[in-house]
Amino acid sequence: MTLRAIQLTNTLSGKKEELKTSQPGKLTFYSCGPTVYGLIHIGNLRSALVADLFFRYFQRVGYEVIYVRNYTDVDDKIILKGHEENLLASEVAKKYTLEVEKDFAVAGLLEPTHKTTVTTHIEEIIVLIQKMIEHGNAYVADGGEVLYSISSFPTYGKLSHKRIDDLIAGIRVEVTSKKRNPLDFTLWKPAKLGEPSWDSPWSKGRPGWHIECSAMASRWLGDQIDVHHGGEDLIFPHHENEIAQSEACSGKEPFVKYWVHNAFLTLSKEKMSKSLGNVFTAREFLTRFSGEVARYLLLSVHYRSMIDFSLETVEQALNALQRIYEAKARAVELKNQSRVRSDLRAESMWGSFAASCEKARMEIDENFAHDMNTAGALAALFSLIREFNRTLAEPFAQATPSAVLAAQELIRIMEEEMGSVLGIGRLVPENALKDFGRIRASLSDIFQDSYVKEKFRERLSENAIQIAIEARIAARNAKDFAKADFIRKDLESQGVLIQDAPTGTTWQYK
Ligand SMILES: [Zn+2]
Repeated sequence: MTLRAIQLTNTLSGKKEELKTSQPGKLTFYSCGPTVYGLIHIGNLRSALVADLFFRYFQRVGYEVIYVRNYTDVDDKIILKGHEENLLASEVAKKYTLEVEKDFAVAGLLEPTHKTTVTTHIEEIIVLIQKMIEHGNAYVADGGEVLYSISSFPTYGKLSHKRIDDLIAGIRVEVTSKKRNPLDFTLWKPAKLGEPSWDSPWSKGRPGWHIECSAMASRWLGDQIDVHHGGEDLIFPHHENEIAQSEACSGKEPFVKYWVHNAFLTLSKEKMSKSLGNVFTAREFLTRFSGEVARYLLLSVHYRSMIDFSLETVEQALNALQRIYEAKARAVELKNQSRVRSDLRAESMWGSFAASCEKARMEIDENFAHDMNTAGALAALFSLIREFNRTLAEPFAQATPSAVLAAQELIRIMEEEMGSVLGIGRLVPENALKDFGRIRASLSDIFQDSYVKEKFRERLSENAIQIAIEARIAARNAKDFAKADFIRKDLESQGVLIQDAPTGTTWQYK
């Protein structure tokens, strides 16, 4: 059997490459999953959905896929959360794994072949660390900490395409560090009192973050895997370190043939991060909107492009899905009509629509095969939908045998060619449309909600604020107090408070 030729952008080479798996017809796939210490945000959901997209697509083109996705269930953040919630770290991990799985289910994620956790792979982790020490790639520091020695791995930096010197310049060096090289990273760390710990040859402790993925990948997929996915924020240091660990242990290169990374998500043009305080959880999104709207919003843009999450993009996703389901509702009606008669004009019109179906099918296939261009594939579907609506609007076009066939083919393209890969368009149209009605009716309410309004507030940029403050100072110096006052009130109405002090004017967002 010949498989569909697929192009993927490989972060390792920085180029589009044709996918050739090590065993024909089989594909091993690893994706880094979440750390379970709280609800995931929609940026995490995007990563999970992109992994799901690849998984669905590889299967659709005929690969037998083994897909591993992990949960990081022991980590500083989990331990900290345990202190906050008065729970054991293991209870925190269990609680939030369940919560994450609820979100994943609502978002329609397929179950991976194996869902793995760090705490069930401690034995494998210890074996790998031991190997690295034996091979001279790791060393034991005071107190039983084990560190990876970057200088033992000459190709370090090959994934992020950075020189070691530049990488060192970019990190903060701790004065008290036991590291021989500032880039050396922890493989095993001794536990503090009350922290979860496991026995090891070096200390009672727990694994560092990066080693878990090397251990789980080799346990379930072997020393060398075909495709590894993650968000682009994981390229350095996490994935760089995975390569250093796995290749040092197995002596085989490359650890991963194709590295695929998805881009960030911004919230009203700002990068979403907990430290910026503008995090929108997947739960909020999925509860207020729906799994399918989330899938459309997060997958209709190419996985390597940024997505801005705003009221506007939510509405666009909703409109697009509505167009798909309205056409599907018409197609279902056409397919089920009881009285069918022949009409030569209709036959010829639907004949040309059938040719367009074939063209759309090919375009969808081409776009997916070309580095998962979901936006291109959807454009082909929408062009077909427009033609379907146009044809159907002809007074003589309905109730003919070829119209029935055309309707069947359109539904098949929606549900299979597009739907099986994107995971959209497969619901009963009446139900989907009813649900969009509900979301739309409450959309303005949702964005009136003070919480959401806060999240979506378009904030004045720092630059704009600085210019306004300077204009106010100039007005005051010119004794134009009315103008100065106007500027202050105007800033306040846009959510910026300013304060005058002897040292100058400071400002803050309300
Ligand atoms: Zn990982």
